[in-house]
Amino acid sequence: MLRLALSKVLQKRAFVSILGALLGTLLAGGLGGCLPVVQSATSVHLLLGNPSGAIASVTAPDNYLIERPQYALSFNRSRNILNWASWQLNRDWLGNLPRSEFQPDRTLPQGWYQVTPRDYTGSGFDRGHTVPASDRNRSPEDSQSVFLMTNIFPQAPDNNQGPWQAFEVYCRDLVRRDQRELYIIAGSTGVGGSGERGKQRSVGQGKITVPAQVWKVVLVLEPGAELRDVTQQTQAIAVIMPNQQGIRDTPWQRFRVSVDDVEQLTGYDFFSNLPRDVQAAIEARVD
Ligand code: MN
Ligand code: MN
Repeated sequence: MLRLALSKVLQKRAFVSILGALLGTLLAGGLGGCLPVVQSATSVHLLLGNPSGAIASVTAPDNYLIERPQYALSFNRSRNILNWASWQLNRDWLGNLPRSEFQPDRTLPQGWYQVTPRDYTGSGFDRGHTVPASDRNRSPEDSQSVFLMTNIFPQAPDNNQGPWQAFEVYCRDLVRRDQRELYIIAGSTGVGGSGERGKQRSVGQGKITVPAQVWKVVLVLEPGAELRDVTQQTQAIAVIMPNQQGIRDTPWQRFRVSVDDVEQLTGYDFFSNLPRDVQAAIEARVD
C-alpha cells in the first residue's frame, strides 16, 4: 500500500515537473516574446511550502487559500481573520507610496461575511497588517492588496506599534541595507488579547476573533536564491509575541524563539519544500 501510494506521488511529481519543463521551454522559445512570462505554476510566495496545506476551495472555509501577485494567505472563515500570510521581500517590492484605505475583500466566496474597517472601530484594537503596508508600496495595486481586510487582524496597539513594528523595520533593513531577500510567514493563533479597553475575545459584535499570540518566521537569503541554495547554515529568525498591551517598549529580540517552537504552537509545517535535514537544522536554532 505504502509503496503504491509513494509511486503515485512520484508519478504526480514527475508529471508536474515535465509539465513545468515543457512550459518553460515554450516560454523561453519563440513564444516568449508574445506571452506574459509565467514564473511557475505556484506562487513565488509559497516557494518554501504551504504551511497548513491551504486550498482555494469553499470546502476548506477555515483554511482557505487566497493567492495574489503580492502574497499568499490562508483565511479562516470561523475566525474572520487570516491564519497566516506568506510573502517574498526584496528591494523590488519596496517603494514609497502613501498608505491606501482599508477595504472589505470582495473576492471572498459568495455568501461569506466580508469584514469591514468599521468592524474594528472603537474596539480598542488596531487594524493590524499581517503583510505590512511598507512591504508593499511600490504600486497602487500592491498597496491596495495589503489594505484588504483579509490581511488584517485585531492587534493590541502596544504590540502593533511596539516590538511587532520594530521587527518589521528590522526585516526591511535586512533588505535595504544588507541586500538580503527574505521569505516571511506570519500569522496569529489562540483566542483572547488585551487592547485599550481591556481583555477581549472578539470584536465586530462577536464576528472577529481576537488572537492570543502573533508569530513570524523569516528565512534570510541572498537575492535570487532558489530552494537548492538553502543550507543547514541558512539563517532563520522566529518570534512569538503576546497580543496584549504593556509591551510597547519591549525589544523585539526578547521574543525570539526557534521555528520549531512556532510549529509546535501552530501545528503548521514551515519550510516543508526543503530537504528534511536542512529543515531540521534551520528550525531547531534560536537566532
Ligand atoms: Mn502593523
Ligand atoms: Mn518544517
